[in-house]
Amino acid sequence: MQSYPNPCPCGYLSDPRHQCSCAPGHIQRYRRRVSGPLLDRIDIHLEVPDVPYKELSSEYSGEKSLDIRTRVVNTRNRQLTRLKGDRIYCTSYGYH
Ligand SMILES: [Zn+2]
Repeated sequence: MQSYPNPCPCGYLSDPRHQCSCAPGHIQRYRRRVSGPLLDRIDIHLEVPDVPYKELSSEYSGEKSLDIRTRVVNTRNRQLTRLKGDRIYCTSYGYH
């Protein structure tokens, strides 16, 4: 099976930083190459813009898991204190 990761043959159709050089007919032909029955099995179609290299290579990788865990544990403890005596242990809906 062949995949089509780009929105057009040149790959720049939805890129705000580059000009797409494809003719509309080329784009239509390119997209028709993905078969209808295959597309019917895909429920969600997303256009995902490329991430600039500078962002990908950034040292910052987000908040550390330990910091997130500490925040969640502190929040849960505050909630347990607040709900003490109410026979409720958590106000969130779902799995605990
Ligand atoms: Zn293009």
